[in-house]
This record gives sequence, C-alpha cells and structure tokens, in this order.
Amino acid sequence: MQCMICKHGATQKGSTTVTLEKDGATIVFKHVPALVCENCGEKYIEDEIAKELLKKANEIQKSGVEVDIREYQLDAA
Ligand SMILES: [Zn+2]
Repeated sequence: MQCMICKHGATQKGSTTVTLEKDGATIVFKHVPALVCENCGEKYIEDEIAKELLKKANEIQKSGVEVDIREYQLDAA
C-alpha cells in the first residue's frame, strides 16, 4: 500500500518493536509484523495484530508484571 504519512513511499513487509504502557506496566513486543514505508520509515500494524497486542498486554498487566519484554507470536500462525 502507499504510505499515508509521506504519500510517496510504498510499504514493504517488515517488523517492528511495539511498546505498550498500561497502568504503570511497560510491555515490549519485539519482531511484530508490520508494513514499513521504504521512504519515511513509518510503520503500520494491522488491526488484527494491534488487537492481539492489546489482549496480550492486558493479560501480562493482570499478572502484576511491571516490565515485560517478549517476542511477538501469533497463536494461529
Ligand atoms: Zn512514508
């Protein structure tokens, strides 16, 4: 797809690191699949994946962990 930020570059499949902060907890997901703009570097995460991240972050936060760094993995991959 075309980048919505610079309206110039095309996006390529890649990966990114996502940091979520919730009620004092910081959860970092590494190697999250994303579309990366070849021009400006803007990263786009698909809705499905963003939802999955939020769900996982909720679970992690409930367990009382303050900082958690993990590899992203889709259960249905
Ligand atoms: Zn761009």
